[in-house]
Amino acid sequence: MNHKENDLVLPGEVLCTYEEYIPSSWTYVEDGYIKASINGRILIDDDERTISVSSINAPECLKVGDYVIGHITEVKQNKALVTIKMIKGNNREIVTGYKGFIHISKANEDFVSSLHDMFKIGDIVEAKVVNIYGFEYIDLSTSEEETGVIKAMCVDCRKFMKLVDNKLVCECGKTDSRNISSNYGGI
Ligand SMILES: [Zn+2]
Repeated sequence: MNHKENDLVLPGEVLCTYEEYIPSSWTYVEDGYIKASINGRILIDDDERTISVSSINAPECLKVGDYVIGHITEVKQNKALVTIKMIKGNNREIVTGYKGFIHISKANEDFVSSLHDMFKIGDIVEAKVVNIYGFEYIDLSTSEEETGVIKAMCVDCRKFMKLVDNKLVCECGKTDSRNISSNYGGI
């Protein structure tokens, strides 16, 4: 153990070895050590054997397993970037800039060859938090049925599209497809 409870730590700082505690909020594991992913104070739960960092800046603490709503800001072949706007089930908008990404391996249950057809810039997605490496580096998954695009933005006119018979249709006449959530249209 490198620190005691309530110590202030910076992102990347070693908290303890992986054997000592179970990593919880705002921590990650690297080379056998549990490290802090944000600046904050160390919290230790001796009953649960967990170690976490309590954020100083974050009004809302994001946890692995949370479902979040965000919008797509960039789509690459292997990675779609997401700006997270809120934690699902908690309708307070997050004010700090949490950013995440959906890797191609976690976009869908089925094999995907490119993310370009699955997400477009401006789409609103629901995703599950898989890992938190830092404020701007949150690993997200849309492989569960209820996750994926919940509102698709038309690439021609930038309006949100309607889902009609499993097909996205825009009032401008454009039709398209996406990696659609079973909750399409709802939040
Ligand atoms: Zn349109």
